[in-house]
Amino acid sequence: MLPAELIALEDRYGAHNYAPLDVVIERASGAWVYDTDGHRYLDFLSAYSAVNQGHCHPAIFEAMVRQAEKVTLTSRAFRNDQLPLLYRDLHELTGYEMALPMNSGAEAVETALKAARKWGEVVKGIAAGEAEIVVASNNFHGRTIAIVGFSSDAQYRRGFGPFPAGFREVPFGDIEALRRAITQKTCAFLVEPIQGEAGIIVPPEGYLREAAAICRKQNVLLMADEIQSGLGRTGKLFACMHEDVTPDVMIIGKALSGGFYPISAVLSSREVLGVFSPGDHGSTFGGNPLACAIARAALRVIVDEDLPGRSAELGCYALHSLRGLRSSHVVAVRGKGLWIGIELNRAARPFCEALKLRGVLCKETHERVIRLAPPLIISKDDLDWGLDQIREVLEDSGGECNELIAELAGTTALGE
Ligand SMILES: *Cc1c(COP(=O)(O)O)cnc(C)c1O
Repeated sequence: MLPAELIALEDRYGAHNYAPLDVVIERASGAWVYDTDGHRYLDFLSAYSAVNQGHCHPAIFEAMVRQAEKVTLTSRAFRNDQLPLLYRDLHELTGYEMALPMNSGAEAVETALKAARKWGEVVKGIAAGEAEIVVASNNFHGRTIAIVGFSSDAQYRRGFGPFPAGFREVPFGDIEALRRAITQKTCAFLVEPIQGEAGIIVPPEGYLREAAAICRKQNVLLMADEIQSGLGRTGKLFACMHEDVTPDVMIIGKALSGGFYPISAVLSSREVLGVFSPGDHGSTFGGNPLACAIARAALRVIVDEDLPGRSAELGCYALHSLRGLRSSHVVAVRGKGLWIGIELNRAARPFCEALKLRGVLCKETHERVIRLAPPLIISKDDLDWGLDQIREVLEDSGGECNELIAELAGTTALGE
């Protein structure tokens, strides 16, 4: 089928809750994806960091096929022989005492919210139904009703109310605001150590460390949403490690399967995850043996191929290179590891369209930021090639592109 026909089908029969670039991907390998016409593109988004290990990593593929031949789903009504091994791997890799497996990132965040509230009631002694959770402005934690209810992005909320109560917003990066927002009723502070969807916003140095100290002193759980920042993306296994912070609750997803399968998890202590009794919480697919086998293989790739180390090294190099851009469009270049935001003084979408024509796929976030997040297995040569394309499109001398950008400037940036 022609790509135009596939796009027409999608537009006709599918809900329009995304505004994708019109590239129809048919297959992928490593850092490259291929469209239905056989053109290849360097993937500078990595499915929002779900494919840190690169597309179709052979070791994860093998684990998936081997497990699919045996058993894929048992439900948690029975035990399976893979879940205990994933629990052990997660414990050995991260040091957390316990884990609770879910499927999507949003579900894991919901799980953490439930755990925090019940911990607040049962352990901290907050009156029933009174527990409050502090969140950061411009957060992104997923799309469920509870989560969009405490988003500061009006579009995420518009039309979807009413929302659950019990959330209090503080400006991201403002430690005094956090201190003031905490009361006797506060059970948790939920935060992304680096805000991804908001445009790769790195908080002031020391913010997380001080937040952790305040939370400890006030008996409040520090809950880090590392669904996008974790598992190597920022140059450490977890972004919190840049400040030597070990949050009480760690939420992971995305790269936990290397892109093969939706799997997420909440990691915490026995004290926190111990609040769940049989029947309190669950998921039909959560902890299924196929997901667990895939996640174990995906974690092994992160460790064996030292993806955090690669991210740190290549990220440093890319950041330095991009800071040398001579472009009147660029306001700021920031990031950690291979997770870089290029903030422009105008809509980023036309530049993403121009990059697509040059064989590089990336996606604008919040209208004016180009987010770069290539798979962490990317070779230095491929990275260089991608950075060259970005330079060509953004630098003022690129007359050819400026014309195209002017032409495309009417295109409005829509939701992710
Ligand atoms: C992607 C993301 C989520 C939501 O994950 P889904 O799998 O899309 O539900 C939550 N938090 C952060 C920081 C994310 O990047």
